[in-house]
Amino acid sequence: MNSNSLLSHRKEEPEKGILYIVGTPIGNLNDISQRALNILNKVSLVACEDTRQTKKIMHKFNISNKLISFNKHNSLIKIPKLVKDLKEGSSIAIVSDAGMPGICDPGEDIFKSVKSEGIDMICVPGACAAITALVSSGLPSSSFVFEGFLPKKKTDREKILLEISYSEKTTIIYESPKRLKNLLNELLEFCGGDREIIVARELTKKFEEHVGNNINKAIDFFRDKDIVGEITIVLKGTRKGESNPNKSIIKKDLNDLIDAGLSLSAASKYLAKKNGLKKSEVYNLI
Ligand code: SAM
Repeated sequence: MNSNSLLSHRKEEPEKGILYIVGTPIGNLNDISQRALNILNKVSLVACEDTRQTKKIMHKFNISNKLISFNKHNSLIKIPKLVKDLKEGSSIAIVSDAGMPGICDPGEDIFKSVKSEGIDMICVPGACAAITALVSSGLPSSSFVFEGFLPKKKTDREKILLEISYSEKTTIIYESPKRLKNLLNELLEFCGGDREIIVARELTKKFEEHVGNNINKAIDFFRDKDIVGEITIVLKGTRKGESNPNKSIIKKDLNDLIDAGLSLSAASKYLAKKNGLKKSEVYNLI
């Protein structure tokens, strides 16, 4: 990347040979910026996750420009052509269906290729569900962990849930409405029902709501409901030195550490320190 040129102030008009990463709204179309509209209007072409979604924005703001589809199914084929176009002087905007490209959306692969080819990339920032949920949750926001969607495979998922249960930082998770109840029950098992949580649903949209207080209350709230809409979860970290003494999880950790070669005594000492328990309390779990 030509880093020197990035230090200078960028003109409002798209420049030749630059990839523009353009953030779009996560629900309320009026959240799009003037700068984003200008870029979408004037670049040589707009590469979008789903042309039908992007057309809604283009239509609302009377923009007509060349759209091509760029998504996880065709990105490997499209990237070389887009890189070639950029090298030949095209200006290209990349947008996803909603929010910031590259955040649980297509983009990462082309950003990597473009960077390795020394082509300039400029981000025109827009909404992101994670940040919108975080700042409106009222939970600590200066330092946080973004997990995106948790892995589906049981062992990978439990590993992350365990990390989340120990983390002192606020954690942000994306989840589908269909799987929300299941995830809340997993969080109950790993973090305990008192852990503070906010379930942000339909951010920036007509039926926006922020449900929670703690995991128990969020489970109660959704118990008899058919959940629809888009969901982002914000979970408070555990307090320093006060980890969740969920005995079944600690027992599982203990077995894992022993399987990995640690003695019962050493594993118990380690987990006791980590969980704020006495060594004998951990030792006696087996
Ligand atoms: N690139 C997007 C961003 O910057 O936030 C995220 C795309 S990811 C495929 C879609 C997920 O983001 C949804 O399943 C949901 O978890 C979260 N999300 C997107 N829009 C949302 C909204 N309006 N309210 C709550 N969560 C939202």
